[in-house]
Amino acid sequence: MKIFISADLEGINGVAAPEDVEETGSGYQQARVFMTEEVNAVVSGAFAGGATEVVVCDSHNVAANIKVEQLDDRAQLLRGDTRANSMVHGLDESFDGLILLGYHAKFGTQNAILDHTFSPSMIRDLRVNGVSVGELGFNALFAAEKGVPLIMATGDQSLEKEAKDFYQEVETVVVKYAEGRFCARCLPRIKTQDMLVETAEKAVRQAKEKKPVAVPDSLEMEITFQQVNLADGAMRVTGTRRADAMTVAVKAANMEQLMAVRQVLFNAAAGFYNPLF
Ligand SMILES: [Zn+2]
Repeated sequence: MKIFISADLEGINGVAAPEDVEETGSGYQQARVFMTEEVNAVVSGAFAGGATEVVVCDSHNVAANIKVEQLDDRAQLLRGDTRANSMVHGLDESFDGLILLGYHAKFGTQNAILDHTFSPSMIRDLRVNGVSVGELGFNALFAAEKGVPLIMATGDQSLEKEAKDFYQEVETVVVKYAEGRFCARCLPRIKTQDMLVETAEKAVRQAKEKKPVAVPDSLEMEITFQQVNLADGAMRVTGTRRADAMTVAVKAANMEQLMAVRQVLFNAAAGFYNPLF
C-alpha cells in the first residue's frame, strides 16, 4: 500500500503569520521543526495503518522546508522545486491514497490562516469547470484523475470545511483555530500529534474503500487575477480566452495538462506584475 503525503506549511500547528512561512521570517526555522514533527506523526500513523511505502512531497515555496535529518527513516522525501507537477509531483496511479498535510483554505476565506490560492498577490480565484477550488481541490482533482482518493487533510477549521465540501468522506484533523487571517488559537502540539497519528492510521486502513471524486472528461480552468494587468500578461499564452477584465480561461483534456498550463499562465502573468501599483 503506497501513500503520498503533500506537505504545506501554512496549516501546521504553531504557524499563524507571514513571518512563520517566509524563508527570512523570524518564525520560519521553528515552523520547519513543527512541520517535520507533523509529517513524522502522519508517516508513523500511515505505517501503523498498513502502508508499505510513503512518499512525502515537500510542497511549500521552494520545497526545502522539511528537516531531512529529523524525518522518519521509513519515508521517502521529494525535496526541491522546478518540477512538473508542483505540490503533487511524483504522484501516479500506483498510489492508494493522498494525504494533504498542513494545507490552508483558498484565497478569500474568512477566519483562515494565511488563506491563498497558489499566490496571494496574484490569484483571487481559480475555477475548474465553474467550481472554485483552492490548492486542496486542485491537487486532489489531479490525484483523482489517476484513481487516487484524498483520504486525509489537516490544517485549521476552514481548511477542514473546504476538504469536507470537496469530499465528504475525507478524514480531517484540525490542529488550530483561525481567529482571523494571521491569528490562530493553537491546540497543544502533543495533543494534535496524537490526533495526526490516530487519524492517519484510520485513513490509511480505510483507503482501499475510498473512491476518488469524478473528474470530467473535458476541463476548463478560469483564473481570476488580482489585477487587470496580470490577466493581460496571462493572455499571451496560446489558447487562452478573456472571460472578463481580470479572468483568463483555458481548456485542457486532463488535470495533468491543467497543472502545466496553470504554471505557464502564472509565469506569463508574473511578467506583467508591478508591486508598486
Ligand atoms: Zn505553502
